Amino acid sequence: MIPFLDLKRSNEPYQSVISEAIEQVIASGWYILGRELDAFEQQFAAYCQTRHCVGVANGLEALTLVLKAWGFPAGSEVIVPSNAYIASALSVTLAGLKPVWVEPDPGTYLIDPARIEAAITPHTKAILPVHLYGRCCDMTPINTIAQHYGLKVLEDAAQAHGATYKDKRAGNLADAAGWSFYPTKNLGALGDAGAITTNNDALADQLRALRNYGSVKKYVNEHVGYNSRLDELQAAILSAKLPFLDQANKRRRVLAERYLAGIRNKEIILPLSDQLEHDAWHLFVIRHPRRDKLRTYLSQQGIGTDVHYPIPPHRQRAYLSYGHLTLPISEQLHREVLSLPLNPAITDDEVMYVITMINQFSE
Ligand SMILES: *Cc1c(COP(=O)(O)O)cnc(C)c1O
Repeated sequence: MIPFLDLKRSNEPYQSVISEAIEQVIASGWYILGRELDAFEQQFAAYCQTRHCVGVANGLEALTLVLKAWGFPAGSEVIVPSNAYIASALSVTLAGLKPVWVEPDPGTYLIDPARIEAAITPHTKAILPVHLYGRCCDMTPINTIAQHYGLKVLEDAAQAHGATYKDKRAGNLADAAGWSFYPTKNLGALGDAGAITTNNDALADQLRALRNYGSVKKYVNEHVGYNSRLDELQAAILSAKLPFLDQANKRRRVLAERYLAGIRNKEIILPLSDQLEHDAWHLFVIRHPRRDKLRTYLSQQGIGTDVHYPIPPHRQRAYLSYGHLTLPISEQLHREVLSLPLNPAITDDEVMYVITMINQFSE
């Protein structure tokens, strides 16, 4: 049996450094907003080559707090990709703003910069590109459009720890970036955790207040804030794992290369390989016109897969008022995508077995 993702196995190589980090936090007697968070924020900012990192409770709130901090009038529009995880759009809604969905490039599955301008109205205030599956969006044209129309750009980098675009890292490609360290991500905590990276000093200060009841000085509140803090335990665990991120991503690339070279099935569309070294390979997503049949077959061979994601956000009950929209590229992708097991804990033999079984699939 090859599970799609086994978090116990994924964390095993880090067991001793994680245990040490936990012991240290217990012994410190300080559990919220302390030394461990400061240290992780500095290390992650250095990793992303940004001036600031602000730890928060999770990825959804990382995005929501930035949109709140920008202070757009209620009901302002934010452009989001139509084929991503629902969290990106939810952050817009939770910030009191309106998501405007733009279709992806059918080759990269990332928001299509050529379709953005047509979605801009006098109410548009920001663009929220999502580096889906670990590949960075085409940020140069996105930033150019944003500059031209005076819009902010917020990266959703929750799937792109360590990904690069040209000579820069994800998280350093726009006005700010939201991160998740949910346990399944390339850099995963043992619980919920998130962060924002930015080069803007004033925004970082504002976010540090917003995550902690809007307070800069204890019991003095400047803003109507939240409780969205990254605790000391998770910060210490993330600091312990961060030094291994590049090595883990390298292993992901090796496995992705194996899949790309090995899968020979005429009906399968493989992910693009042109950014192999830049892509963080959070997920290895193939497409098949009869995805569910292929998924059932693989499951019968003992191979776990997943679908990211089965229902596009505009077709969710949560977004019933957008249900009339027709977004054909997204809808087709949601019908066809299938994620194969790809993470640093998978062995060479397991990947070979998956490849062999896929190549033997016939209907
Ligand atoms: C995981 C994820 C999020 C949300 O992160 P949480 O920490 O679970 O809130 C947001 N956007 C994308 C693209 C994600 O993959």
